[in-house]
Amino acid sequence: VNHVMASEEEKKSVFDVESAKEVVKELRASFAAGKTKSYEWRSTQLNAMLKMMEENEPQIVAALRDDLSKPELESSIYEVAMVKSSCRVALKKLKHWIMPEKAKTSLITFPSSAEIVSEPLGVVLVISAWNYPFLLSLDPVIGAIAAGNAVVLKPSEIAPATSLLLARLAADYLDRSCIKVVEGAVPETSALLEQKWDKILYTGNGRVARIVMAAAAKHLTPVVLELGGKCPVIVDSDINLQVATRRIIAGKWGCNNGQACISPDYIITTKSYAQKLVDSFKCELERFYGKNPFESKDLSRIVNSNHFARLSKLLDEDKVSGKIVHGGERDEANLRIAPTILLDVPQDSLIMTEEIFGPLLPIIQVDKLEDSFDVINSSGTKPLAAYLFTNNKKLKEKFVATVSAGGLVVNDTTVHLAEHTLPFGGVGDSGMGAYHGKFSFDTFSHKKAVLYRGFACDAFVRYPPYSRGKLRL
Ligand code: NAD
Repeated sequence: VNHVMASEEEKKSVFDVESAKEVVKELRASFAAGKTKSYEWRSTQLNAMLKMMEENEPQIVAALRDDLSKPELESSIYEVAMVKSSCRVALKKLKHWIMPEKAKTSLITFPSSAEIVSEPLGVVLVISAWNYPFLLSLDPVIGAIAAGNAVVLKPSEIAPATSLLLARLAADYLDRSCIKVVEGAVPETSALLEQKWDKILYTGNGRVARIVMAAAAKHLTPVVLELGGKCPVIVDSDINLQVATRRIIAGKWGCNNGQACISPDYIITTKSYAQKLVDSFKCELERFYGKNPFESKDLSRIVNSNHFARLSKLLDEDKVSGKIVHGGERDEANLRIAPTILLDVPQDSLIMTEEIFGPLLPIIQVDKLEDSFDVINSSGTKPLAAYLFTNNKKLKEKFVATVSAGGLVVNDTTVHLAEHTLPFGGVGDSGMGAYHGKFSFDTFSHKKAVLYRGFACDAFVRYPPYSRGKLRL
């Protein structure tokens, strides 16, 4: 049952380049009038968003059920509570963030004082993805508002119920002259990308990121690209196996059934430990999702038939036949794939060269755990997140020193996302720029350098006629 349906009028509206131009024009006028700059406007909008989330949780959960069969608890925690928490953090800290930051000055400009003023960039665009469609849409918008910008949000068409609900709620709760939701797919996004923005934050895959960056380059618009990749998990043998297994399951199948950018993509462990790990997964998976995971209400479905076909292709490749050691069942009609574990798949298989973004988890075996770092680094791409389970201090140090990734977590998975004191973003192929907490505010601000001088101590050495003699004075 679709809980959120578009009205005939909503279906008919066409959004083209002219419409995009109009939207930007209106927002530019609002920004130029100074509407978004005051503390009052920013805090009013953040409070309104908080209220919007508080008053509409059942509708939000229902939309996420329509789009992804997302379990209610996952929706409540990862989408609603996290957006509310971001609003609260911004509201609590905003006065402090807005304040100019004093900077030291040197003899060169003596006497002087200096400060760094955080200035809104102007009119910004947020393009978001379907997997956490509320969080990934609103979290960047919170940063854009806190920093005093006008903003257009383009949610993903692949989560249509959420997209429609976001458009309606934003229009009802937020200042429409400064914050707009534009729904649509490639044509609508392309029309938006033709316009001049002061910053674009894009969340999604690397192929489209290149389109976004090329469009931005035409206007010299800076971009934040929140992308994905293959997030590895290294598992040592000196650990609490049950806790480790559960935390990997929570980050994989417990995060939208593996359709999360920081979900564990594959595991690396030693040949001598792999079977123990597989047995532990079997045991805990059954405990969490029962003997028949298709009957479990606690697993999201695969978002659509394209992604179902993409994941099926990874499983059906000849190279991986016979490698499934757990799960593997598929129900195409209901877009369900059981939690699946594969052991010893070849490095050049599709499942090891493409981002999985679903409920399949290959386990790679190495002779010595230290070899894991070579496996990760030899891929030539930098993951969005990497995880290590160990009690070995030396291994932890080597992990932090040698693995380049957006973020690292030792002895857990995915939870770094919830710490607003940490920047969230990728490096290399997993993206550029970061947000969350103060980093969101900074991402959508220009740090303006301001130096104040008086008229005393006018160093004449800089004035012509130039002479070495003056320097010696
Ligand atoms: P998607 O299909 O929803 O696309 C993302 C956005 O790009 C959508 O708004 C879509 O309308 C737009 N888009 C698609 N094609 C376009 C085109 N040709 N021109 C302009 N815009 C276009 O999402 P996706 O790409 O399937 O998302 C999954 C990917 O995103 C994975 O790689 C995942 O790791 C990554 N991801 C990253 C984060 C993060 O925070 N770093 C979060 C979620 C997902």
